[in-house]
Parts: sequence; C-alpha cells; structure tokens
Amino acid sequence: MRTSKYLLSTLKENPVEAAIDSHRLMLRAGLIRQIASGIYTWLPTGLRVLQKVSAIVREEMNKKGAIELSMPVVQPAELWRESGRYVKYGPELCRLKDRKQNEFVLGPTHEEVITAIARREIKSSRQLPINLYQIQTKFRDEIRPRFGIMRSREFIMKDAYSFHMDHASLEKTYDDMYDAYSRIFTRLGLDFRAVRADTGAIGGNHSHEFQVLADAGEDTIVFSDGSDYAANIEMAETIETAERPAPGAAYSKAATPGCHTVDEAAKALGLDANQVLKSLVVRTEADEDGKYELVMLCLKGNQELNEVKAGKVAGLSNPVIFATDEEIAAFTGSHTGSLGPVGFKGRVIVDKAADKMGNFACGANEDGYHLINVNWDRDVQGYEVADLRNVEEGDPSPDGKGRLHLRKGIEVGQVFMLGKKYSEAMNAVVMDENAVSVPMEMGCYGIGVTRVIAAAIEQHHDERGIIWPDAMAPFDVSIIAIKPGKCPEVHEEAEKLYKELEDLGVEVLYDDRDERPGVMFADAELIGIPHIITIGEKSLKDGQIEYKDRRTGEKTLVNKADIVTFIKGKLGRA
Ligand code: ATP
Ligand code: MG
Repeated sequence: MRTSKYLLSTLKENPVEAAIDSHRLMLRAGLIRQIASGIYTWLPTGLRVLQKVSAIVREEMNKKGAIELSMPVVQPAELWRESGRYVKYGPELCRLKDRKQNEFVLGPTHEEVITAIARREIKSSRQLPINLYQIQTKFRDEIRPRFGIMRSREFIMKDAYSFHMDHASLEKTYDDMYDAYSRIFTRLGLDFRAVRADTGAIGGNHSHEFQVLADAGEDTIVFSDGSDYAANIEMAETIETAERPAPGAAYSKAATPGCHTVDEAAKALGLDANQVLKSLVVRTEADEDGKYELVMLCLKGNQELNEVKAGKVAGLSNPVIFATDEEIAAFTGSHTGSLGPVGFKGRVIVDKAADKMGNFACGANEDGYHLINVNWDRDVQGYEVADLRNVEEGDPSPDGKGRLHLRKGIEVGQVFMLGKKYSEAMNAVVMDENAVSVPMEMGCYGIGVTRVIAAAIEQHHDERGIIWPDAMAPFDVSIIAIKPGKCPEVHEEAEKLYKELEDLGVEVLYDDRDERPGVMFADAELIGIPHIITIGEKSLKDGQIEYKDRRTGEKTLVNKADIVTFIKGKLGRA
C-alpha cells in the first residue's frame, strides 16, 4: 500500500475525549472514528487489524471442528419472549418495530436465534454434538459506553453455540473451546488469565472468563499465591477466620451531627472505620404488580459491597436496585448515613465479616445519631448472614491454599455451560436411542473480537504509539523513502524493494509522500508497524539501508543486496 493513495488518518494531538491509552492511540493512529456514542467506523488501518484477529479466531475455531454460519442482527421479539429474556434483559436490549408494528430486537447475543435454528435443523442425536459459530455485529445499549471500542454499543463478537445429547459431551466441547481460546489469545500475544466467572444475563451454571491483565481493565480478578485458584472478584468467596468478641456494655446513642459517611461517623466517634457498620438499603424483586419491599444490607465500614453477590441473595432484585432517598426516608424516618439494623422493620442481611463484629457502631435510624456498643443477637435478632463483600488483597484463598491477590483485567472472552436453559424454554429437542424426545444440552462461547484490539494496545504501547504483537499488525513492514524527489536513487531503490516485498506477500506500507522524515517516522511508529525500513541518500551511497525494530528500538544497517533476506528472517519466513 502506498501512503499517498491510502487513508492514513493519523492525528498529531491527543484527543480530549480519550481517557485511556488504547482509546487515545486508536483515534490517533487512525483505526476508528466515533459516529455516535458507542458507535464507531473502522477506518482502513483498523479494519486490517480486525481482519487479522478474525482470521486467527476463525482458524482456531475451525481446528476444533466448529462450523461457521451467519445469523441476523435484527431478531423477532417473539423468540426473546419464548426464552423469557424479552423483559428480563432490561434496557440494554434495543427494541424496535417495523412498519407493520412487528416487534424486533437488535441482537446483543444469539442464544435465541441459534436455538430456533437448532430445533428446526437438528432432528437426530446422530447429528450431535455440533458447534456453530459466527463473527458478527452485536448491539447492546450500554448504560455507559466508554473507552472507545472497549465498551461500545455496537461491537463485533465471535459467538459459538454447541448442542449435545448429554453433559459429558458438553464438557468435552467446553474444554475444547477453553483450549481454543487459550491458543487464540496466546497467538495474539496477550498476557491473559482464565478465571472462574459468574454467568450473568446469559445464564447457565459453569463459566470461565478470559481476562487480559491491564490496569485500565474494568474487572477485578483474584489469584491465589498457593494454588491455581483464579476467579473474577464477583465469584471469589470470602472466608472469615475472625471470632466475634463477647458483648460488653449495653448500647447507647451518640450524637454524630453532619456525619454522612462511615469515615465521618468513625472520626466523630473516635473509632476506626472497621468498627462502624455500613448499612445499605436495596429492593426485593418486584412482584407482578410491581410491588417490592426494602431490605437492609450490612457490611463492615471499611469493606465494599459486591453487587453481583448481593443480586444472588434469594428474593433480592437482580441486578441489585438501591432504594431511593425518598423510599428510605419514608421507611426508616432517617437518611443514608444514619441507617442501621437496630429496629429496622424489614429483612436484614449481614455480610459474613460484619457478622463477626462485636461492640460496633451503626446508624440509629435517626438523623444525626449513631448507636455505639451494638451487638448481633443481643440487639438485633432474626437477621440473615450472606457473602456480600469483595475479597481483599491478602484474604485467604477459598480453596484453603494460599492468600489472594487482586489485579485489573479486561474481559476478552467467556465460555459458558448453559445446560438446558434455552433448549427447555424453546423446546429444542432430539430423539434419544429409545425414541424419547429430550432437550439438548448447550454451551456458548464468546470472544469480543473488537475489544481484543483495545486490550492488546493497553498491553503493547509506548509514548510514541502502538507496538503491535506481530499477529495483529496492520502492516508487516513500513518503507520510508527520504526525499525521493531530490534523489532518484532513493526513489528507485524504494520502489524496487516495495515491489519485491509485495511480490513475496509481505504487507507493506510504503511512505512515498515525500514528507519531512520526522513526520513519516512518527506515523510509522504511531501506527505500530513492527519493522521499519528507511532508505536515505547517505547510507544508500555506502550500499546500505537502515532497519529499525519498532519493539526494541534497535537500528541495524543492512547491505541493500541483503535487505529482502533480512526482512524475511525478521518475519520468520526465511
Ligand atoms: P461485560 O461484563 O464487559 O459487559 P459481558 O460479560 O456482558 O461483558 P459477554 O456476554 O460474555 O459479555 O460477551 C462476550 C464478549 O463480548 C465479552 O467477553 C467481551 O469481550 C465482549 N463484549 C461484551 N460487551 C461488550 C461491549 N459493550 N463492547 C465491546 N465488547 C463487548
Ligand atoms: Mg462475559
């Protein structure tokens, strides 16, 4: 590709809207452009990267015997009603009508459509197992699209769905997909971990996420230093080893005027935050008439609620919905910051760690007051205990081996054992050997093909730009001709090398713009082309061409007669 005939679209300035490196660099390197919130065009350079990633994903899926198909983005609402997700999926599901008032959704995922396909096309258990996949556009009306294509509304996913006669067969395909994902992310040059995961809106009973380690990640993952235990923090069970101290003096009321947070109350009372109870009020699941009750969740003041864990407590709304200030005031007579379990009229659910507190302080359900020397059982009865909090650095590993450590991760893929959730709801059955019709076992397996690219940039960049892992680079080689207009030998040599490399199938971006050298170098390094060749008058006089390795920054002078062999060696094509 000649730069003069290409749409390079690089930017010199840092775009103000970009909060993280990958978003900033994707805009600056001319990979993407936003057209509406969370909706992007993939410019030519970005599309080249996308195609590289897709090709690797496709290769590894095909190797495991998965079969490619393509399903529609626009899906009839009827299918979503059948699975029970039309309402349950919530506002992330984009619903629309055609001119005849027929209802549709934009597919955020394709379990419904694939199950409708499977129940029609698969007649006999002899056709099983089968694993069908596509690489295709998804739409989720994310509440907060951000970080460019990392969390966008429209994005590309590879999604695969497998169908089985029995659980053992599902387990085998699940393991195959786990293995394929490990191979894909390794080939893409990513530092990743597979972790135990919650199944969220997709459902099912067993799942792993593939997380790329990066500080910009929105997920927290935890590892044990004494075993191979690794999980998303949403799944990491807390183990409490503390003993609850014996109750002391009776509780009493203390004035805490103007204190709205745990820290402010602790300071006013001369206590540490871990001696103050944090009380939050959430809703139960609404009944058919939309009615719900209020429930109090209690944690140690220095610890954090994990909303996924709370969503799993029986009877609570999932996802968790916090009570409004007005609801709290009407129910307790006080406001956030003065709430506590003593005398609370609804269900009280206490985190396992908070349950080990004794002689603690909590809100008095009266504005401007706390209670001190409160004790469970003596002062609060009939409460429930649950795992509600996030694990913390140094907590014991749930498998009893070692301590936990926390890292940030970007979720690039997830594999699920769905079981019969969709096949039962949508009647996707096959005849078994006794001619009895049974619902098929299902698995589903997703990779965020577009998000992978942002994740790769988070791990591979420097102050000058992107440093692509070889497998993802939009071009293999950049040829920069210095002042070809002034020096015909430079022009000739550059044209010759460009042709030779292109003939060998090497993907070259040939900068023939006759720009200032600084501009051409800056662009090549920003785009992150792994191998940069510079042809200039001075070195060419000595029969030499300069090579620069983008990753190491190392420069080498190579005899012009050897340059093609040299580059082939660098590309592993010797
Ligand atoms: P998240 O927790 O990040 O919202 P998810 O768990 O809802 O993602 P899945 O349903 O597991 O996502 O979808 C499979 C993959 O699609 C994810 O692992 C992720 O890489 C990608 N993905 C999901 N949502 C988005 C999004 N809004 N933008 C870009 N990629 C996404
Ligand atoms: Mg997921």
